[in-house]
Amino acid sequence: MPSRASRISLADVARATGSVLGQSAQVPAPAFGDGFASSSVSGDAHPNLADISECLFFSPGDGRIWLQDQRVVLMHTEALGSLRREMVDSLGLKQARGLFTRAGYVSGARDAQLVRKQWPDAEPLASAIAGTRLHALEGMVQVELVHVAYDAKTGSYEGEFLWHNSSEDDEHIAAYGVGGSPACWMQVGYATGYVSTLFGRLIVFRELECRSMGDGHCRVVGKSAHQWDGVEEDLRYLNAHEFVDVAAYDQAREEAADLPSPERSAGDAMVGASSAFKAACQQLSRVARTSATVLFTGESGVGKEKFASMLHRISPRAKQPFIAVNCAAIPETLIESELFGVERGAFTGASVARPGRFERAHGGTLFLDEIATLSFVAQGKLLRALQEGQIERVGGTRSIAVDVRVVAATNEALREAVRKGTFREDLFFRLNVVPIHLPPLRERRDDIPLLMNHFLHHYRRKHDCDVKGFSQVAVRHLLNYDFPGNIRELQNLVERAVILADAGGLIDVHHLFTGGEVHRAEVLTLHAAAASGVLSLAGKAAAAAQAPSAPRAMSLDQTEQSLLQKAIAASGGNLSAAARLLHTSRAKLAYRARKHGLV
Ligand SMILES: [Zn+2]
Repeated sequence: MPSRASRISLADVARATGSVLGQSAQVPAPAFGDGFASSSVSGDAHPNLADISECLFFSPGDGRIWLQDQRVVLMHTEALGSLRREMVDSLGLKQARGLFTRAGYVSGARDAQLVRKQWPDAEPLASAIAGTRLHALEGMVQVELVHVAYDAKTGSYEGEFLWHNSSEDDEHIAAYGVGGSPACWMQVGYATGYVSTLFGRLIVFRELECRSMGDGHCRVVGKSAHQWDGVEEDLRYLNAHEFVDVAAYDQAREEAADLPSPERSAGDAMVGASSAFKAACQQLSRVARTSATVLFTGESGVGKEKFASMLHRISPRAKQPFIAVNCAAIPETLIESELFGVERGAFTGASVARPGRFERAHGGTLFLDEIATLSFVAQGKLLRALQEGQIERVGGTRSIAVDVRVVAATNEALREAVRKGTFREDLFFRLNVVPIHLPPLRERRDDIPLLMNHFLHHYRRKHDCDVKGFSQVAVRHLLNYDFPGNIRELQNLVERAVILADAGGLIDVHHLFTGGEVHRAEVLTLHAAAASGVLSLAGKAAAAAQAPSAPRAMSLDQTEQSLLQKAIAASGGNLSAAARLLHTSRAKLAYRARKHGLV
């Protein structure tokens, strides 16, 4: 019997089989297109197969297998095959394909996080290749690299791979034989999730040839969403629900349509693919059909109002009004008249009767944000409205029947407020019929790349800025940042960065974090290392271009030299003009320029 703590590392096994699995990354990758600074990666670049294999631990004593800090299971492919058959038979091909694609996406996103965390300094392409090795190690498929290119300057990615021995094809062919459409759904989802999470932009993979279509092997190509024609079809399989707008950043479609959509703000789209997000969406679509009261909980900025308004839009009340009230934004003395209306003469200045938000929401949905801030009296009236479907205006005597679905939200622990006596227990139970918790962004990090892209495209259009994308250093910062302000904070950071970044350039860290955001110390350390890692990869030209944003990577001497060079070049070699640019004298500038051998 193995001891409880015994762990068998597969590193040795991997070393033994390295010649088989590792060969893919050693295929020289031809450069294609202009501007691809780095398009090949050596097979020895870290993380290599041995590095990755060391992440896999068997701990049979306690019934666990670990892929670094994530628990995984060994599952018979036949069991997966039977799951696939049952899903196809009960849900239909399209639904089943969607489920498997999304499950694959989550798995790929997790693996990308693992690689990021373990090898923060790895070259981007080596990190990308690590995904193919993890995919192979996990027993899904053997991956052969045809070519892969990544341009650190523009963030363009394009990769082509051959898949051999696809486990999904084995099962699909066994069940359905050879047919007319590709069947490696989960694997395509994995590749999309892995590369998108790694590079912080949506890279869509498509299976162009597949063994399930009678081809000798599967051929997959991945590139940015906007580079594909008809990408809506691919994205449909990533959307758990029709209202989830993964396609929101389909730049190509937006630009082709050339129609600004003023009625649609960045905040309207529901973007996400993480398990936590999908779980909340699942609850949302289930409860939307009913008239049940819904209580959204979660930190500020997680999108409670967005969920509430989506709940209304997919409910049978969609054609009726949706009225939102932020209880915290209305003074306590006015909240009752706001919610329930006022009769004429109820108080000084009430010269006309006025309906409240409850009456205005009749037939529709009333969204009460920050419900915990309601006064005790207002809480009592709200309870009555919920229980009896009737309200009374302030200063009035008659009851008015209202048919309103109440949706409430809070970022406070209502149970705690009940214990402290600041919130009515009966109201709490009346509101808490269907609680939906919205996770903070740091608990759904898989969605950060999707949201980054979504906001980038939105604000590029809104502010008419030609920003190409995010630098790798910026992506790393965003993926490691804790987002105390959640999605709203990410949205604000991206909007600011789009405005601050140079036209035609990339968003860098100093464009994003300029508002005194607090970084945890260890995160900063990681970023410093990450910055130099990226710089060393990108080659000399790219390093010079990125240097101003990563001063740590350059010595003072180098910085001075680069500054002088730029000033002299900008002045067409005129030293007096260059000196004026740098607010110094011609003599000083000439002396320093000579020192650096520039003149
Ligand atoms: Zn296939």
